[in-house]
Amino acid sequence: MPEFRIPFNRPCFAGNEQAYIAQAIAAGQISGDGLFTKQCRNLLEAELGVARALLTTSCTHALEMAALLLDIQPGDEVVVPSFTFVSTVNAFVLRGARPVFADVRPDTLNLDETRLAALLTPRTRAIVPVHYAGVGCEMDAIMAIAGRAGVPVVEDNAHGLFGKYRGRYLGTFGALATQSFHETKNFTCGEGGALLVNDPRYVERAEIIREKGTNRSRFFRGQVDKYTWVDVGSSYLPSDVLAAFLYAQLEKRAMIQAKRQSVWEYYDLSLRGRLERHGVSLPHVPAHCEQSYHMYYLLLPNLEERQALIAYLKARGILSVFHYLPLHLSDMGRQFGGQPGDCPVTEEMSDRLLRLPFYNDLAETDQADVVAAILSFYGEKEPETAWLPERQAVGG
Ligand SMILES: *Cc1c(COP(=O)(O)O)cnc(C)c1O
Repeated sequence: MPEFRIPFNRPCFAGNEQAYIAQAIAAGQISGDGLFTKQCRNLLEAELGVARALLTTSCTHALEMAALLLDIQPGDEVVVPSFTFVSTVNAFVLRGARPVFADVRPDTLNLDETRLAALLTPRTRAIVPVHYAGVGCEMDAIMAIAGRAGVPVVEDNAHGLFGKYRGRYLGTFGALATQSFHETKNFTCGEGGALLVNDPRYVERAEIIREKGTNRSRFFRGQVDKYTWVDVGSSYLPSDVLAAFLYAQLEKRAMIQAKRQSVWEYYDLSLRGRLERHGVSLPHVPAHCEQSYHMYYLLLPNLEERQALIAYLKARGILSVFHYLPLHLSDMGRQFGGQPGDCPVTEEMSDRLLRLPFYNDLAETDQADVVAAILSFYGEKEPETAWLPERQAVGG
């Protein structure tokens, strides 16, 4: 892989990662559900107000747990956006579900709630909205449609931890929600995730599925005097060493989010008003959404211009990336009947999206270099220093 002066992502350390890992090792428990797993769980449950927050080995695994909890059977239909990461759909396909691909809204790139009801059939067993870039989907409409149909909602909130929709945390609307702590997300332990359980009816079975189909959690709480095999399940709990790393990040959530907000606002204040005349669109965050500052992206006029800008930035040592090829047009998606034209907004927009370098410790000089390179690509003058927004000092 070529070295870039300004990479797209870089894992950042919040401060106490190594100390907490040493503590986990010294405590003598490095398997799952030790001290740090409990601290992560307590923090997430208290902050978000969810019935249960179960750490998992990934968001993919949390989604697989959701599919098991909802008893997804072969032939069941699951509505997912075509514009998402493969795991959103694969977790359900693993259980034999048939994906029904939804298009996205052109403004937020979130599942288009105005087209949702038409996709539901008597076989629909789940609706899986993704809060793209940590900007909330239209949850009022989605929950109303799902409620009328009696279909549970699973929020794929991989991007959106601590984002809010109408003042309420993302991940607290659906019966279930999933988080990712992969290296590329706002909070990380390398590979990790969480299943948020909002509907208390799923709590006990979620614990069992996560513990290889045993009632080990009840045993440790003293609710049964031996633990045994009671259901299907697998091993979805991460080592406490990883939870120690994650806790060091979650405890500094205010600092991490402030840093990310500062990067996002710098890009936005520097580029908005200067690129639109070149046919470039910038992210839209509705007034009732508090975003999680997961990413900053541009929508270029067309594929050729996007590839040209990627190459232009690359020549200056800056790595920008695109993502989400429409799932309904992938090899797997086509096996489920996906056809060009099924999701026109996704198809059109996927060719035009470009993500800018974005990580907690992205230096201000590097942010300025990215902006300067983009403006020079468009022949725009660089902003005067005096014009730049006041940079807030972000403390530890
Ligand atoms: C990153 C991501 C996932 C998968 O997360 P892992 O923790 O890597 O399994 C799922 N859905 C979305 C939308 C993602 O961005």
